[in-house]
Amino acid sequence: MKQDFTLHTHTKPFDGQDDEYAMIKAAKQNGMKTIGFSNHFIVHPDICKTDFYPFAVFGGYQSIYNSNFEDALFYFKKHYDILEQYAAQNSQDNIQILRGMEMDLFDTRRWYNGYMHTINTLKPDYIIGSAHLIEYGKKLCNIHDIKKAPADVQDKMLMAYWKKVQWLAKSGMCSCLAHIDLPARVNLGTDEKWAEVEQQTVDIIAENKIPVEINTAAYKKSVFPHPLPRIMKMCADKKVPMFLSDDAHKASQVCRDFDKAKKYADCFGVKLVSLDKVL
Ligand SMILES: [Zn+2]
Ligand SMILES: [Zn+2]
Repeated sequence: MKQDFTLHTHTKPFDGQDDEYAMIKAAKQNGMKTIGFSNHFIVHPDICKTDFYPFAVFGGYQSIYNSNFEDALFYFKKHYDILEQYAAQNSQDNIQILRGMEMDLFDTRRWYNGYMHTINTLKPDYIIGSAHLIEYGKKLCNIHDIKKAPADVQDKMLMAYWKKVQWLAKSGMCSCLAHIDLPARVNLGTDEKWAEVEQQTVDIIAENKIPVEINTAAYKKSVFPHPLPRIMKMCADKKVPMFLSDDAHKASQVCRDFDKAKKYADCFGVKLVSLDKVL
């Protein structure tokens, strides 16, 4: 059976390049019965003071980072209104539209309160948990900052990364997890010495029955998607529920390489789960 849903997509004015309509059209053309939108929900008071923020400004995707919840709520409200309007005007359409978000978790009372207020206001259909950012030495870092760090610091940062993924899995705050081996995107953490903490993480994911995506965006630069084979095997052994994600940032990327990733899953004996098992 071919997977007939896609949940990991990004649009304008977040860091996607196309609007909601173009993405829905592409999903329909690819035979999807459901498309979910999962723009970034990344709110932290110090986000504009980080080393990576100027790169975001330069690249024109700074709108995914917010230093306060009001701004994030404003953008999400507008985006969700468009999705609801589309669904109301196209009720004959045979595609279901879901309102999701890709969320980064932070460990402060203020963050939790702001997040809960946002969730209670927006009532999203699902939440994808991601660890794009880690806190190290009181600084927020992304995978490129980890890549630039000296070797001993790099190891500590990578460990902080895996602890964050574990925390996401245990938090009960997300429907599923994205690209669990994100540092692999910049060739980090691929060494065999990381297998132990990876296994520990997969065990926690399995215990909490959190579905994990097979993210095909990685095919741009690698012969494998996320997760890489070592973690895929662990997920298969522990029967972690898995599904395909395109992490589409434009319409032409909707459902990208789903056939290839399905074969990849087959190689490990991973049976992809249905939509109701992810939500
Ligand atoms: Zn992501
Ligand atoms: Zn994403």
